[in-house]
Parts: sequence; C-alpha cells; structure tokens
Amino acid sequence: MSDCGCSSVTEPSMKPLEEALALLLAHAQAVSEHELVPLAEANGRVLAEPVVSKINMPPWDNSAMDGYAVNRADLKSAPSTLAISQRIPAGAAPQPLAAGTAARIFTGAPVPPDADAVVIQEVCVQEGEQVTINELPEPGANIRYAGEDTRIGQEVLQAGTRLGAQHLGLAASVGAGELVVYRRLKVALFSSGDELINPGKPLGPGQIYNSNEYTLQALLQSLGCEIVSLGIVEDTFEATCDALSAAAAQADLVMTSGGVSVGEEDHLKPAVEALGSLDLWKIAIRPGKPLAFGHIEGTPFIGTPGNPVSLFVTFCLFARPFILKRQGVRDAELTPTPILARADFDWPKAEKRREFARAQLNLDAQGQAQVSLYSSRSSGVLNSLTWANGLAILPEQQTLARGEMVKFLPFSELLK
Ligand code: AMP
Ligand code: MG
Repeated sequence: MSDCGCSSVTEPSMKPLEEALALLLAHAQAVSEHELVPLAEANGRVLAEPVVSKINMPPWDNSAMDGYAVNRADLKSAPSTLAISQRIPAGAAPQPLAAGTAARIFTGAPVPPDADAVVIQEVCVQEGEQVTINELPEPGANIRYAGEDTRIGQEVLQAGTRLGAQHLGLAASVGAGELVVYRRLKVALFSSGDELINPGKPLGPGQIYNSNEYTLQALLQSLGCEIVSLGIVEDTFEATCDALSAAAAQADLVMTSGGVSVGEEDHLKPAVEALGSLDLWKIAIRPGKPLAFGHIEGTPFIGTPGNPVSLFVTFCLFARPFILKRQGVRDAELTPTPILARADFDWPKAEKRREFARAQLNLDAQGQAQVSLYSSRSSGVLNSLTWANGLAILPEQQTLARGEMVKFLPFSELLK
C-alpha cells in the first residue's frame, strides 16, 4: 500500500529540495572550539587547521626496487660487469658511489650520491663481489626523488577535511603527530509518540517499538556526534516543551522524530513556537515531505517525520549536511555526488515530488551497473532499507523507461 496518494495534488507551498537545503545550511555555523588530538584518535574527526608539511616526501632520493645503483656513464653496453662497492639496506646512510662500481641496494634505501639509476635485480647476475648487468637502465630508473610527492611548506590536508584512513596516513607520512580538529557536535534527541515502547519489553495493546531512536543514534554516531538521548516523550504540549527545553539547554542541536505534522496529537510545532521559532517545511520530495527546522532558546532544532523511512531519508538529505557543516566540514564534502546507472524498471507516471526511492545497485549479466527499485513505496517499511544499498533519484515531472540512466546515491556515501 502507498503511504500517500497525493502525487496528483498540487501544493504550491512545497519547497524544492535545493531551496530547503540552502536555507538549512545558511543557519549551520561551525562550532568555534578546536582541540588538539593525537593522530591515532583523529579518525572521523574534522580538521580545523590545515596540515602543512615540514619535510620533503620522500625526504631523500630512494630506491623503488631491490637491485643495483649505478652511474649510467659506467655502463657502455649490456651486458657490463661492475664491482660491488657497498651494500645499502633501508635505513642506511650510503657513501657516494665509487666510479666504475655498482652498489647493492634495497627498496626504500637512499640512493648514493653519484648514482643516477637503479637496475632491478631480475636483470642482473651477482657472482661474489661482482654484478653483471644485462639491460641498460633509463636515466633515473627506479629512483623516487626527494620531494617528488610532497614539498616542504606544501599544504597536504586542508581545513574542513573529514579525516579517514588515507588522510591520517598522509599526515603521519609528513611527521604530524597531532592534529587540530573541531570539537564534536553534541546532539540531544527524543522520540515523540504515546504508542512507542523500547525494544526488549513486551508490546502492549496499540504499542509499537521505538525504532527511530536507534536509527537516529546510529546515524549520529557515524557522523562522530556526542549524543544525549531523552528517550520517549509523551504526546502532550507540556511534556514536549519540557523535553525541548532540557534538550536545548545541553546540546548544540536538538533532533526529534515524529509529531511534526499538524494533527491534534502533534505537539512539536506549537511547543517549538512557544519556546522559540519554527519553520515547518513541506518539501517536494518523497518520502519525507514534512521537515521542521527552528531554534529553541538559540539552539537549532530539526524535527524529522515519525515514519521510519521518512526519518532515514530526511536525515540523509538534510540533517547530515547540516551536522557536517556545523562540525566544520568544507562545502564540497557535505553532499555526495550521485552516480549514474541504467534503470532496470519503468517509471511511467510523472510525479509532483522528487522521489528518493529505495533501490539496489547491481551488475547485470554483462557487468553493467543497473538500478532496481524496492517493491513497496510505503515509508513505514524498514525492510526496504536493509534490502536497498542506496537511493535512486527519480526527478519530479518526469517519466523514465527501462534502460535509461538514473541517478543513484549509495548508502556507502550517505551513511559515512
Ligand atoms: P508521526 O510523525 O508522529 O505522525 O508518526 C508517523 C508514523 O510513524 C506513525 O505510524 C508512528 O507510529 C510512526 N512512528 C513515530 N515515531 C516512531 C518511532 N520512534 N519509531 C517507529 N515508528 C514511529
Ligand atoms: Mg506521533
């Protein structure tokens, strides 16, 4: 069953996604506090100051292979036989290469002064203290030159980078032992709804398990947030006001699930308005049309819909970039770039709202990437999210035929 039959209803007040996101990001101030953390604890943090290399990398010319360092002027033709004048393992400090000789050398060892190529051992034959070189090397062969990768003074990582394995490796390679990062964003959350009970307890009449709390916590954990949970809040104006005040007083952001519609049992709207200011946006997307954004006593507030899939999708599309920006992440990293793949489905009816459909990206029998859609469009079905590996973006006002290209946002990008 579909969760909404409004595809044919025109709602002039619906905001395009881009407009809603721009409004949200305009309010996203990066936290001002920075902290110095050891490199080993910096994974997932956001760099607040660039990393500038104090060294050349490599620091000195070194060998890319196990072999023999030579001066090409000493090799008139191949084969040529030279005396071995020194042995240079990694970590050694070599002597200049004696004229008319070769140096035995290993990967990562410094190339001796006066050598201009390394001949790989596979084309050499060593007998005692002599080596016969069977192929003439090109100038500079198998030498990694000082500063080839990074120069002294070069900015290797820019502020606003979300640090991952590759960034930490690079920082370590230029000797940075500690990094200046933004402090973690503290997010207070609660779930609204009298029907909710936490998993682990038996279900009473009319009750459902509070799944959003766990989805939301995991999403926030992936972004490196510090989380304060106020649990389940009952559907009354007073309880909602109390929870919002308590949340706002101790966090940089308040997030809630449910209660953002305008029914009698939806108390978030009046409660946020009583305590601060609220914009309730109807966004021209599906799932996830209503999204609440406001401020409570100066603290930003994002209220996501209660339907579990709507919460997940609105988090990925709106809350995620907002949180990343507040954590200091640079604009280029706030939203992932979709990939294009062939649609393995027809989309015969042009919709008013852009659809973020739960989808699977697979390879077809020819090895071409193709996108298929989940069987149901209901925003209550959590099975769809574990079946999917991303969201297909189906543009508003357009149909699509099987075989045409469709944009796809992989969960691997949205959930990192
Ligand atoms: P609401 O946005 O409060 O009108 O809720 C919309 C739908 O989502 C209803 O079917 C709720 O029962 C369900 N829902 C609300 N909050 C949660 C939650 N925390 N976990 C699971 N389902 C929820
Ligand atoms: Mg509710």
